[in-house]
Amino acid sequence: MLVKNQGATQSAIALEDQFGAHNYHPLPVVLHRGEGVYVWDVEGKKYYDFLSAYSAVNQGHCHPRIINKLKEQAETLTLTSRAFYNDQLGVYEKYVTEYFGFDKVLPMNTGAEAVETAIKICRKYAYEKKGIPEESAKIVVCENNFHGRTTTIISFSNDETARKNFGPYTPGFVKIPYDDLSSLEEILKTEENIAGFLFEPIQGEAGVYVPQEGYLKGARELCAEHDVLFIADEVQTGIARTGKLLAVHHEEVQPDILILGKALSGGVYPVSAVLADNHIMEVIRPGEHGSTFGGNPLASAIAMEALEVVKDEKLAENAERLGRIFRSEMQKLVDHSELLVLVRGKGLLNAIVINDSEDSSTAWDICMKLKENGLLAKPTHGNIIRFAPPLVMTEEQLRECADIIAQTIRSFSK
Ligand SMILES: *Cc1c(COP(=O)(O)O)cnc(C)c1O
Repeated sequence: MLVKNQGATQSAIALEDQFGAHNYHPLPVVLHRGEGVYVWDVEGKKYYDFLSAYSAVNQGHCHPRIINKLKEQAETLTLTSRAFYNDQLGVYEKYVTEYFGFDKVLPMNTGAEAVETAIKICRKYAYEKKGIPEESAKIVVCENNFHGRTTTIISFSNDETARKNFGPYTPGFVKIPYDDLSSLEEILKTEENIAGFLFEPIQGEAGVYVPQEGYLKGARELCAEHDVLFIADEVQTGIARTGKLLAVHHEEVQPDILILGKALSGGVYPVSAVLADNHIMEVIRPGEHGSTFGGNPLASAIAMEALEVVKDEKLAENAERLGRIFRSEMQKLVDHSELLVLVRGKGLLNAIVINDSEDSSTAWDICMKLKENGLLAKPTHGNIIRFAPPLVMTEEQLRECADIIAQTIRSFSK
């Protein structure tokens, strides 16, 4: 391929390096344009995007319907604050609550804010509806969780990089092993004042860790039995990513509180949401929680279109079907390569585990080589590579990607 503008990559990286805080360690690729499953860098090289902005771009880059809606609403009204009503929010609230089967929604912007909102609702519900003594409500969380980056959320993380020197930490959380029903049962039976159980239906950042079948259903039943709110963080797993509209639908359970973000806007704008039924949501009254941008007309219009696209283009069904093909292709590689331990995932949220020590650079090196070969993916915790392309991918494109990955892996194997 003809290299158009090699200097552009280096100069963009140098600018970020000099003027931006060093809170990320990106692959050295500078993206300029995106369309569907593809992105192009500043040198004109085309890639398959196998990260989808951590599953925020499920509907594909610059989806024409979502972008048109963005333009239309941006030219009409963008922000009013919630000091006044706007003509988009109510329509969106009706749409999103019917879409996911809840009475009410509380609109926010980022995933972390939605998690914070769910924590606040859960605590308030505990004091006002369950009679838990003030200041003593506890929320059960799982080891190796990822729920965002605020001070409270990192307080219950066990990722030292995310936590260290950011204390003092917020109390009120107890940690149990993930995918372990007996630990959950034990803590619900022995600890007092438990208000909620906050979990990811698949642990995305931890390395696409899929719990055993029956875990979600079992946990749902235990929480109901102990009158503890079952709070699903579907910021990454929701909106068709795992082959169902929500990952909890794989086990036909409905959370008490549902947390959404990322693909809720198709990746064009930060939109997040907390959904719950009336008896829970009614604990929040005027002045007790809010956000200047939450529920703005631009966000409302975009989110509605983004959800409509998921339905119209049958993205959950596509993710389910392509996911099966992808894992079976990766399994062939695992069977033939010493370099790979296993492939796991659901729908189009998958990962391969590399056969090397946690602190080796093998996953990073493979991602660099994948980049050279036209596919962008990023290592996650402990020599694991997550593969999460936009859900608008075709089978032909997916098979081409599986070939790129196979060739790349083979070039590493001795
Ligand atoms: C990404 C993510 C968040 C945080 O979302 P932000 O928009 O980055 O704040 C929370 N929970 C899960 C499961 C996520 O994957």
